[in-house]
Amino acid sequence: DKSKLDVIWTVHVEVRLSTKSRRRVDIIQGLVRDFITQNYDPITLPSILNGWEGDPTLASSVERIAISESPCPLKLLRLKEVSLEIHAYQPHETDAVEEYANGTPGRGGEENVLAASVCELPCKAWEGLWDGLIYADNIKLKLLDYIHATFVLSDADVDFNLVTWNRVVLLHGPPGTGKTSLCRALAQKLSIRLSHRYSQSRLLEINSHSLFSRWFSESGKLVQRLFSNIMEMVEDEDCFVVVLIDEVESLTAARAGAMAGTEPSDGLRVVNALLTQLDKLRYQKNVLVMSTSNLAKAIDSAFVDRADIIQYVDLPPREAIYEILRSSLCEFIKKGILQETTVPTLDRALYIESSNRNHSSASGTILPYSPENLASTLLALADKCRELPQAQQLSGRALRRLPVLALARYIGIGVSTSSTTSNLNNSRFQTNIRLW
Ligand code: ADP
Repeated sequence: DKSKLDVIWTVHVEVRLSTKSRRRVDIIQGLVRDFITQNYDPITLPSILNGWEGDPTLASSVERIAISESPCPLKLLRLKEVSLEIHAYQPHETDAVEEYANGTPGRGGEENVLAASVCELPCKAWEGLWDGLIYADNIKLKLLDYIHATFVLSDADVDFNLVTWNRVVLLHGPPGTGKTSLCRALAQKLSIRLSHRYSQSRLLEINSHSLFSRWFSESGKLVQRLFSNIMEMVEDEDCFVVVLIDEVESLTAARAGAMAGTEPSDGLRVVNALLTQLDKLRYQKNVLVMSTSNLAKAIDSAFVDRADIIQYVDLPPREAIYEILRSSLCEFIKKGILQETTVPTLDRALYIESSNRNHSSASGTILPYSPENLASTLLALADKCRELPQAQQLSGRALRRLPVLALARYIGIGVSTSSTTSNLNNSRFQTNIRLW
């Protein structure tokens, strides 16, 4: 209908510049816009663009151009239906990490408490992290939309007494479901998306265990010092700061320790210090606090109360398992460990499945190789993972390990074929294993 035709979708284009690129960002953005307009109508969401290497300026400055995923239900959009937002970014080298120790020599020779580490964003290490995380229910886009909403509110100068938000997100769920990775990936994504507003972005990861579970009397001071560092960073309005508090349930441990222990006031003081500092941060536009927990029930209620979004991150569903296994296989193929093979995308696999539904295949038999059979086998494997009893269900971390165990099982029995396509240098592993 008419109303649908009038919708203009924002499409984010991420342009990764090479480390040596010295070109002005606005020039690159203009060239990318021209390139898309001339070559990509309609545009596919999400996709990686090719062919820009023909332009000498782009060829010498750009490494990758990607169209991001979008909440738009259509996967193919005409350019007249989209507003392109082009973000050009130059990732920092990975080792640009600063660490904050407590600064005082450990008692009786004990080591310093490492309270936090800071990393400049976007950084090379976390390129690809976002795309590799797969969830049900569009969790990733939901989080991005939430941040976007808080920016709209801040920009409009909405009265804090009438509408309140804290820019605090809490992700909870079973261990190994990618919560910490999602926080890092989101920080990286934001640093790219917000580069037109903030010339710098940083991720500060607070090491909750060392902050809360050790000497309480010192922890109070440590929290103060840490937050005064954060405040200093945040005062620079050109810098966007993401604060990650991992395993936030250790806060509660501090409070519980305070109730039961010999130094009751110290533990409470630490928790209160942290909450007070968090409250101060909410008035800053350029900060986002992300926290994770494996035990939502154990989190301090005062902290939970401050979170705008409390998102449960579950074990991967069937579709996510398929994608995790597929991306691992693709990496094996890319690095020459497995023979060149087409591993169908999830959409393709589901299509193959639905068209095969009427053709019953003999279960338990090994099917001859074809991309279709590979898709069916991987889907069947994903089903098997989901059918495991609750306590044995595989987390994303366990699934990422599965291909290693599978490889280990076959590597010794010489399923080797020609090693000419192998690009591995280590001769012990110069086995180009056939997938079939
Ligand atoms: P958590 O913080 O929930 O314990 P992590 O962020 O440490 O989990 O994740 C561990 C590893 O498991 C990550 O390196 C990631 O590659 C993988 N992983 C976990 N969940 C997923 C998922 N949903 N999709 C893809 N990879 C995942």
